[in-house]
Amino acid sequence: MNIAIIGAGAAGLMAAITLREHRELDVSIYEAQDEAAKKIVASGNGKCNITNVEIHADNYVSSHSSFVKPALSMMSFKKFQKFCMRAAIPLQIRDDAKCYPLNLEARYVRDALVRYALHLGVKILFKHKVLQIKKEQNHFKILLDTHSTNASYLIIATGLSAAPQLGGSDSTMIFAKSLNHTTIAPAPALVGLHTSFPNPLKMSGVKIDALVDLVVDSSAIQRARGDLLFTKYGISGLTTLDLSTRAAIALKEHKVVKVKIDLLPNLEQQQIVSILNNLHKAMPNLRVDELIQSVLPKKLSPLLLQDIEPKAVDRKLLTKLAHKIKSIELQIIDTHGFRHAEAASGGVSTEQINSHTMESTIVKRLYFIGEGIDVVGDRGGYNFAWCWASGYSAALSILAQRE
Ligand SMILES: Cc1cc2nc3c(=O)[nH]c(=O)nc-3n(C[C@H](O)[C@H](O)[C@H](O)COP(=O)(O)OP(=O)(O)OC[C@H]3O[C@@H](n4cnc5c(N)ncnc54)[C@H](O)[C@@H]3O)c2cc1C
Repeated sequence: MNIAIIGAGAAGLMAAITLREHRELDVSIYEAQDEAAKKIVASGNGKCNITNVEIHADNYVSSHSSFVKPALSMMSFKKFQKFCMRAAIPLQIRDDAKCYPLNLEARYVRDALVRYALHLGVKILFKHKVLQIKKEQNHFKILLDTHSTNASYLIIATGLSAAPQLGGSDSTMIFAKSLNHTTIAPAPALVGLHTSFPNPLKMSGVKIDALVDLVVDSSAIQRARGDLLFTKYGISGLTTLDLSTRAAIALKEHKVVKVKIDLLPNLEQQQIVSILNNLHKAMPNLRVDELIQSVLPKKLSPLLLQDIEPKAVDRKLLTKLAHKIKSIELQIIDTHGFRHAEAASGGVSTEQINSHTMESTIVKRLYFIGEGIDVVGDRGGYNFAWCWASGYSAALSILAQRE
């Protein structure tokens, strides 16, 4: 009996290691690139936010929100921490519950996982791109660019389309469809957003602390507080990334998507009116754009002056301005694309995957794990957490079938 895993990313490595930690099974990983898990190396700005100590189902976006629960509960933080120690990756936990390797080196995490997998006897075949999979009577036929091979069990761990420069591809979608599975079109997640403001270039580079609401078809559906960065195409920064997954799904569904931004979240609207009034009283000759510049970065003036007639400054105008500062709306017209996305939503429908085992409910001994499933996590280590949990539960399921 042999087990083939396609894709040596976080999920594929976890599944392979777990299988070999328990039994001396024949486990091979077929990896298209010449190195494993490029996304681990690039993760967390080179530091790898490897998981989160506080994980809940609502940290994930999926068509079926409870799908993630069984696998996540199988891989507790304590269990993951012990796994990491066996792979020689000691961890550190930050005050905000995010977890990193102690040495803060993402490349080391990847290298340590590969080293541990090889030490356990996992075969990793680099530059082995799988082109096609066929289900035959008692096995899977795997067609590569140079030859074909067979496997009794098949785990598809090929991720999704985010960051193609780091191995992102549509392989999972192609394989799943060819094996008669329903798929949900991917959308970029954890990504910058393009706005309709006529000239975002003018505001590019401004970074503020803001409170941002995501508004879809006139309803506010999500809120984020923190860094908001204005870029040459629109908005980015941590608040934008947090809202982007649901924004991109709504755009895909042709909904009207906006962000409502509170540019001075530490002040009430009335306090802003008072500040502006006092400034105006002290210096009556200041123009409205000069007043704006006294409370916010200069580059934001054009945004706030849209629809404001810069005529004589009076209390009415200052009240209108304060209202805009607290609730300026920008229309979102696109995302910054898969190339810049940290993850992708969509993938293989959870309706045809057993949530405890990751085994397909329509093809026996076929498993999907990691980002390729219709599950995407929030920023904060949740995407890796899903890879570890789904890879682990698939491996346990295969081990249980072989007992
Ligand atoms: C820049 C960046 C930073 C990130 N930072 C974090 C972070 O700090 N914390 C966090 O939780 N998440 C982070 N993520 C998200 C996280 O990296 C991914 O969710 C995770 O790596 C997905 O793992 P995976 O194993 O499912 O797929 P992948 O990592 O995409 O692995 C799939 C593998 O399959 C291979 N493959 C594809 N098609 C084929 C084929 N046909 N034949 C053979 N091999 C194939 C690919 O080459 C690749 O190696 C980040 C992502 C990016 C892009």
